[in-house]
Amino acid sequence: MRSAMSKALRIVLSALRSVTRRLPGTLNDEPDLVRAQARAFSRQVPLLYLILLANTAILSFTHFAVAPKMLTLYIPAVLATVCIARLTHWWTNRNLPLDEDKSKRLLGATTPLAGVLGAAFTIWSFFLFPYGDAYQQSQVFFYMSITVIGCIFCLMHLPSAALTLTAVVILPLAVFFSASDQPVFVAMAVNVSLVSVAMIAILSRHYREFVDLIGAQRALIAQNAQTQKLSDENHRLANLDTLTELPNRRRFLEELSLRLDSSRGNPAGFVVGMVDLDGFKPVNDSFGHAIGDKLLIQVAGRLSEFPCDRFLVARLGGDEFGLIVDGDLSDAEIRDLGRRLCSVLGEPYILPSVIAPVSASVGFCRYPDGGRTAEQLFEYADYALYHAKRTLRGSAVIFDDRHSKEIRALAAIESALRHADLEREVRPVFQPIVDAHENRTIGFEALARWESPILGSVSPAIFIAAAERLGLIGTVTEMLARKVLRTVAEWPMDLRISFNLSAKDIASPDTVDHLVDIVHASLVQPHRIDFEITETALVNDFDQAKIALQTLRDLGARTSLDDFGTGYSSLSHVRQLPLDKLKVDRSFVAEMEHHQPSRDIVKAVLDLAHNLRFDCVVEGVETAEQVALIRELGGRLMQGYHFARPLEAEAVEDYLRTESRRAARRSRSEAAEIPDGVEEAAGAPAEPRNRPSEPLSA
Ligand code: C2E
Ligand code: CA
Ligand code: CA
Repeated sequence: MRSAMSKALRIVLSALRSVTRRLPGTLNDEPDLVRAQARAFSRQVPLLYLILLANTAILSFTHFAVAPKMLTLYIPAVLATVCIARLTHWWTNRNLPLDEDKSKRLLGATTPLAGVLGAAFTIWSFFLFPYGDAYQQSQVFFYMSITVIGCIFCLMHLPSAALTLTAVVILPLAVFFSASDQPVFVAMAVNVSLVSVAMIAILSRHYREFVDLIGAQRALIAQNAQTQKLSDENHRLANLDTLTELPNRRRFLEELSLRLDSSRGNPAGFVVGMVDLDGFKPVNDSFGHAIGDKLLIQVAGRLSEFPCDRFLVARLGGDEFGLIVDGDLSDAEIRDLGRRLCSVLGEPYILPSVIAPVSASVGFCRYPDGGRTAEQLFEYADYALYHAKRTLRGSAVIFDDRHSKEIRALAAIESALRHADLEREVRPVFQPIVDAHENRTIGFEALARWESPILGSVSPAIFIAAAERLGLIGTVTEMLARKVLRTVAEWPMDLRISFNLSAKDIASPDTVDHLVDIVHASLVQPHRIDFEITETALVNDFDQAKIALQTLRDLGARTSLDDFGTGYSSLSHVRQLPLDKLKVDRSFVAEMEHHQPSRDIVKAVLDLAHNLRFDCVVEGVETAEQVALIRELGGRLMQGYHFARPLEAEAVEDYLRTESRRAARRSRSEAAEIPDGVEEAAGAPAEPRNRPSEPLSA
């Protein structure tokens, strides 16, 4: 019996479902609309069943005495049970997330159920109608109409259910009461029908607005998603290095400050690393930027594939890369990491037209013992890198106490230099440059000396670099040039003067112009002056260096490439630049007696200078053995402690006098050994030097 009933119910439900599916507001394919309908309806469900149950209970109660128990107790109880079961179902599901399927399932059952329950309550009401007096009959009419209107309102977000309910309640009600012989009931039936029509019109408008609202929300969500996508893409691009597709400097700094924020109060350590390629610039300059780019991409590839957990790598710019390695690593672990990195990056790079022998140096700084702020970590890792490049090229250096002492010392130097009276405290000294064939000084190199009242005497290698960092170098150079030229103006006319320019001087057209003016204003003829530049001046801006050298050449002065062999100058650089002289760095001379490769380098530079018709000065000559060796290799011009240490300006005259005396003695003793008539060929006494008072020779 029960199975037959449930089968019948299923058939009725499916028939109704197929009818109601065609009604407006039936579940459609818009998942967000379905979800919104389910959400809105679920809020009305308790109200709907409350109206239904309360009104039904009141009607049963008022008819209890006049109608059979079947109608006032059992049937309402069955109907109420169904309603309560349904209400419980909605109530227990109210907090579960409403996905599309679940919403569809809940709503899908609602329309047919509205039809079935509406029909059941209608039939029950019709059966109850004949019992009781006119008041009670009117109450049945009122119950039916007011309950259905209440329920229809609760179904406003599901028009298919609202229409179904109208069809199964209002229509039969109108027909039933119109057919009664009571004109009042007929009038009421007409009233209710009219109200129902108006209500359905209002509900359908409301539903359209609801659909529009959901549509607008959907468009807004889509627009937001699009905006978010664009902003995500912008964010990605803003944080990405376009060439290597590695995170860029900005992202690196962001990651660094994220780690610093999250490690506040939780001392989780990490290590910041700076990687810089050694030998990248020559590849870039010689083979072009396209090859340089390919090289950088390969470097980035090796770094991203580097086998290390918790390892972030970014390109900071140029050939510099940054690393963040999470974890409390010991010195040994960091050193091992550095070794492995240098070894991976030092493998040759196979590029379309060249196999580039590039290596890498790394500087590390550990948080929190090394540095505590992003700036410190960055600066100190960079300092360690700078050390690696200067002392242990192709290796890794960890920032330590020694480095922080150096940084403090540098800061003290910068502070003293900033407040120094440069005119009073900085002076030039002069180191002879000697023609070793003739044992004769041909000129001097001016070297700066700073006697600080606070720090004492500071090496030019240190304070010139500090002046560069402080932007004071132009002032220092120009002041020195004036002092040097004032001194040189007092010297014999055949003596040359070599004057050092820093990379920053060469990079500044203003400083070069000022130097030209200073030379013009001096009593020294430009052709007696050699301007020395180091190879680092070429690395920064080759084209500007070339222009600056040409300007000095046009002035009539000569130009020298200092410390040759220690930097990156390629042969093409040397050929392209307006140069007159190479100076072999003293590091090769110091080693040449016991180190064949250094000797080979000295020989190669001497030969190169000879072939290019450049002069060549070998620096740092300290022993007679070195003099002999250099002469053997074809060197003639030399400079070094063997001949003289840098001299105070006042000591130059004495030095020259001593040299003349020694030369005269030497030539006299040589003359005594040589038969008459050949004295001249063996070398006459040193010629007397032209004094400035004598007419100037061109
Ligand atoms: P530099 O131009 O290569 O100058 C030669 C340096 O070698 C000088 O050091 C000189 O004193 C030193 N020296 C000369 N002979 C010997 C030797 O036989 N053995 C050894 N061990 N050293 C020798 P100094 O005066 O300390 O200058 C160091 C560097 O500072 C210079 O190297 C130059 O690069 C820079 N510098 C010096 N004066 C100036 C200046 O007025 N302007 C600029 N821009 N740089 C300067
Ligand atoms: Ca020099
Ligand atoms: Ca030098």
